[in-house]
Amino acid sequence: YRINVCVAAGCLSCRSDAVKASLEEELRRQGKEKKCLVRGVGCLGLCAVGPLIDISPLNVAYQAVQPSDAPEIIGSLAGAPVSRLLLPADQPFFSRQKKIVLENCGIVEPERIESYIAAGGYEALYKALRQMSPRQVIDEVTASGLRGRGGAGFPTGLKWTTVYKAQQANKFVVCNADEGDPGAFMDRSVLESDPHRVIEGMAIAGYVVGASRGYIYVRAEYPLAIERLRRAIKQAKQLGILGENIFNTPFAFDIQLRLGAGAFVCGEETALIASIEGRLGRPRPRPPFPAEFGLWGCPTLINNVETFANIAPIVRRGGGWFAGIGTEKSKGTKVFALAGKINKTGLIEVPMGTTLREIVFDIGGGIPAGRRFKAVQTGGPSGGCVPEQFLDMPVDYESLKEVGSIMGSGGMIVMDDGACMVDVAKFFMEFCMSESCGKCVPCRVGTAQLFNILERITAGDGRVGDIDTLKELCDLVGATSLCGLGQTAPNPVKSTLRYFENEYTAHIRRHR
Ligand code: SF4
Repeated sequence: YRINVCVAAGCLSCRSDAVKASLEEELRRQGKEKKCLVRGVGCLGLCAVGPLIDISPLNVAYQAVQPSDAPEIIGSLAGAPVSRLLLPADQPFFSRQKKIVLENCGIVEPERIESYIAAGGYEALYKALRQMSPRQVIDEVTASGLRGRGGAGFPTGLKWTTVYKAQQANKFVVCNADEGDPGAFMDRSVLESDPHRVIEGMAIAGYVVGASRGYIYVRAEYPLAIERLRRAIKQAKQLGILGENIFNTPFAFDIQLRLGAGAFVCGEETALIASIEGRLGRPRPRPPFPAEFGLWGCPTLINNVETFANIAPIVRRGGGWFAGIGTEKSKGTKVFALAGKINKTGLIEVPMGTTLREIVFDIGGGIPAGRRFKAVQTGGPSGGCVPEQFLDMPVDYESLKEVGSIMGSGGMIVMDDGACMVDVAKFFMEFCMSESCGKCVPCRVGTAQLFNILERITAGDGRVGDIDTLKELCDLVGATSLCGLGQTAPNPVKSTLRYFENEYTAHIRRHR
């Protein structure tokens, strides 16, 4: 038997490490250690009911396991499962998902490269280096229709082509792992659960664009992800998968980590580059874009964690396979972090085009405590609130934009009918105000002005004309700020005004 214990941050926070230790101890005590292996694996997805374990080949999964459950679990291996802990495997949370990025999560051991290799890891890198030219890899990535998963949705093949064509001798590959949206934990889970997948994607990118060095810019607030990345890089170097003459080819590639110090704006690519270079993490005007003028002035390919995690399966299975999943303009799958007022908080991956209703009600199990769904915030502070009338809308880049939100990196915060939408807008505006780097006036002053008005309204001091002022300021800040943070900061206000203006007016009238 193999007992897989989730050792990603969600389950670890409910003591899954103690569960793993007591299962190992119990195996020894019952003299079964030769018949059964306990493995620490990545996120199994359903974080709401951790610690989670699953046992193969029994096809049995248990939820909310405590260290004290170990004797019963080990004792039941050859008999009937422990019914009080059973997690139904056929529930929609699992059956409605399609896993590409997360295909190894819950299966491979993130701390052992052998486990990744046994699951087909580094086959794509081998195939790219030994059987394909850089141009052929780009053709597959382009044919896949993959768009950047960091938020903007820029075609990945086009970005790779730009850096590939650049003539300079020095080029770099950067993985943006500075996940900062409130409620988002997609990249964190991927890095904690399957760090080699990201390394493999980056190495393939290095081969394609002609770079011999890559950087992963990861938040210092993700210590487990950092520890596993460090270990993974070390293991890859020991096996000759990073370093010189990879797979006996002339290709050399090395990866270093750079830790972000918690500034949200460093997720913006020019600020991220400045931070890696050791300068103050502040955005600069674009163009020139990093693909032409990036790290130390060299052409630099920047993609986020999820984008790189899609590369190995595309190279292995072909761009056509990937393009067969999703919608006409949004191909493949998307990883979402479900949070807020939803029964099944956790990490999911669904084909692009899945409806919000399927995500919230079928996969997410609906709204707790018999409350009604009110809205879902997608895209973090740059996104917007999508109300109930759009529950049947397919989730893809275009549809979300049409209703005033964005895909963003994949955070989904669900709100029930108890949520005050002015409070929601105020929360996100306070976040943007605090995270503004202060370089340009519209963002530095405008977000503070917007926050002050929202605070006044929610405190009962709203004035006639506040709503018009909010609308005017939103347009001004969005149109004149230098970088994406300021340009999109008004979005939560705009979307809540668009669908819930009555709540603003009710606040103002109630206290007049
Ligand atoms: Fe800084 Fe905001 Fe201007 Fe961006 S928009 S450069 S975060 S002040």
